[in-house]
Amino acid sequence: LTLAACSGGGAGGGSGSTGTASAGGNDGKGTLVGVAMPTQTSERWIADGNAVKKGLEDAGYKVDLEYGNDDIPTQQQQIDQMITKGAGLLIVASIDGTALANQLQAAADKKIPVIAYDRLIRDSNNVDFYVTFDNYKVGVQQATSLLTGLGLVKADGSKGDKTGPFNVELFAGSLDDNNAHFFWQGAMDTLKPYMDSGAIVVPSGQVTIEKAAILRWQQETAQQRMENLLTSTYSSGKKVDGVLSPYDGLSRGIITALQNDPSNKYGSSVPMPIVTGQDAEIASVKLINDGVQYSTIFKDTRKLAEQAVVASKAFLGGQTPEPNDTKSYDNGKKVVPSFLLQSDIVDKDKIKPLLIDSGYWTADEVAAGK
Ligand code: BGC
Repeated sequence: LTLAACSGGGAGGGSGSTGTASAGGNDGKGTLVGVAMPTQTSERWIADGNAVKKGLEDAGYKVDLEYGNDDIPTQQQQIDQMITKGAGLLIVASIDGTALANQLQAAADKKIPVIAYDRLIRDSNNVDFYVTFDNYKVGVQQATSLLTGLGLVKADGSKGDKTGPFNVELFAGSLDDNNAHFFWQGAMDTLKPYMDSGAIVVPSGQVTIEKAAILRWQQETAQQRMENLLTSTYSSGKKVDGVLSPYDGLSRGIITALQNDPSNKYGSSVPMPIVTGQDAEIASVKLINDGVQYSTIFKDTRKLAEQAVVASKAFLGGQTPEPNDTKSYDNGKKVVPSFLLQSDIVDKDKIKPLLIDSGYWTADEVAAGK
């Protein structure tokens, strides 16, 4: 409320009346770009925000970068305020992909292009472009590394030495994040043959995304759910062999629950289960290096930020960015033209070639976990 009020008075120099990107017929240099990111509790979004801001500023634009604190009204107000300030373009990584209808309508009314960043904005015609990773493939990679870690599959994709049955529990992301559904689908399609054959069993019986989901991707909620699973299903002898986790923060909560389990001393007398992840967060890369977490999925946020800047330049120069995918992301109202990047599985052996050699993390950071 106060946010909207204090944004009045033409802050940022815009009249707030038209704000059309390439009104001057030039490349839009000097235009204000609003960048709305979901939260600062996960380091990837901080890296994303900083990289997008720097790329846009280097290209001559002004940037209003805001974090929504995982709170929907906060993000709505931030975007309202960007529009009031006269933003000529919006880049949005939504908290809830369906909650921004009013903001998007306001943007459309002022002909402000909207780029969905990483997470698809759903149920709206007013989304012009989407930059992201191949999210279905991320889920395939998560499940594949789980299978490899369990020994059911070899690194080259051939049949592994082990046959199971393995006890596996499944976690999913936040249901209001479109990506969570893509990760889950990719993973479940990959695990299905092994679940059908009995090589993988889910002893808790919690095999739907609704049961597996963790609201807002909260680490504590994942820890709690894992504790509950250990109590309900694993307190009389059964052991967990693997956990499908779609995000490093969740993985750390899951690992804490396993390490503190009163029945099985996971990580000491009982081997730590194969736990997957996503984002190559530094605390988890250390855990992978130390043999505690099995794997993560590396999505190079520098490359995603770069694509957001490429798309922004196109829009602000009065053009349309070039998609490399025009069929995967139907948001319920339209298929949003997309630019998809590829991700990589990182297990212990891949930390050096993929994360250290590319400059994403230094060897010292990996050793320290920060
Ligand atoms: C992103 C993931 C991230 C998750 C939690 C998803 O939308 O694609 O990279 O792990 O949100 O922040």
